[in-house]
Amino acid sequence: MRPATKVLALSGGVGGAKLALGLSRRLCAGELAVLVNTGDDFTHLGLRICPDLDTVLYTLAGVVHPGQGWGRADESFGFMDELRRQGGPDWFLLGDRDLVLHVERTRRLAEGERLTQIMSDLATRFGVATRLLPMSDTPVSTLLDTDAGALEFQHYFVRLRAMPKVQRLHYAGAAHARPTDEVLDLLRSPALEAIILCPSNPYLSIDPILAVPGLRMALRAARVPVVAVSPLIGERAIKGPTTKIMQELGVDRRAAAIARHYTQLIDGLIIDEFDDLPETRAVLAAYGLRWSATRTLMRTLEDRERVASAALDLARLLRAESTLRWSVG
Ligand code: GDP
Repeated sequence: MRPATKVLALSGGVGGAKLALGLSRRLCAGELAVLVNTGDDFTHLGLRICPDLDTVLYTLAGVVHPGQGWGRADESFGFMDELRRQGGPDWFLLGDRDLVLHVERTRRLAEGERLTQIMSDLATRFGVATRLLPMSDTPVSTLLDTDAGALEFQHYFVRLRAMPKVQRLHYAGAAHARPTDEVLDLLRSPALEAIILCPSNPYLSIDPILAVPGLRMALRAARVPVVAVSPLIGERAIKGPTTKIMQELGVDRRAAAIARHYTQLIDGLIIDEFDDLPETRAVLAAYGLRWSATRTLMRTLEDRERVASAALDLARLLRAESTLRWSVG
């Protein structure tokens, strides 16, 4: 029997998967579940592609391309080469092995299976003990209003390399989506001890998850500590357009802004040592947050485990404090 899930991590792709791997190594097999953004999912060449789910799956399975952080390490591109020769759209790279996942997923979805069931089977086939939970089985698409017009996520992110200026984001289909029974059951489980927000892009990876009606409330109703890990070091994101978007939306680009973004949801924040400054501490204290500082850059496996430990330790501390408060009050 699978052990009860103790920790639920919310994740996008590359940045989130790094911490998810660290968490999986700091917990016993099966104690971690990852709730993954599906706002980046799209249909391309007739195939249903779920980039964040696959990135988390490949990372946890140890088959991810180590330099890129997405796609597979041991990959060939015969399909892409031939597609290009035949004049097909070649802006979205699909490796030969990677392609199998998209073909299988598309076939099974067409037969009426739920994405949750398909990802659970794939995880088992890859030998991954961590549960991979799509944020919803109903499609939700992140759309961006930009200075280059309205763009679907992959056109903005991959085809146009996140260059257009973002004015507004919306999550099409979110109003009709619902959290899956698997996620709601997990959030009601007495075994759950903590919820961790990975250092994923707040706008492109975490907000789409929170846009699924009822999910934000269910996260809070779980009555376990919610701890976020900041994706920023100083005014810099490690990768991707996080700070570019923050600037375009007129938001301050520091750890304090991450705290502000997640107010009413988080109890604690992991910040980088570089950001452990009196002014940051004052803002975090004003929001009533607990925080802890560590080196948050995750280059090595050790780094991933260190940041995971910091997040789990802070959640444990918050849990001990709240138990004390509840038993006293
Ligand atoms: P995507 O969906 O592939 O773009 O990936 P995510 O949204 O999960 O991750 C992108 C975010 O991860 C960016 O905001 C990065 O700043 C953050 N990130 C990537 N690597 C690291 C790291 O080593 N440490 C921290 N703290 N954040 C990181």
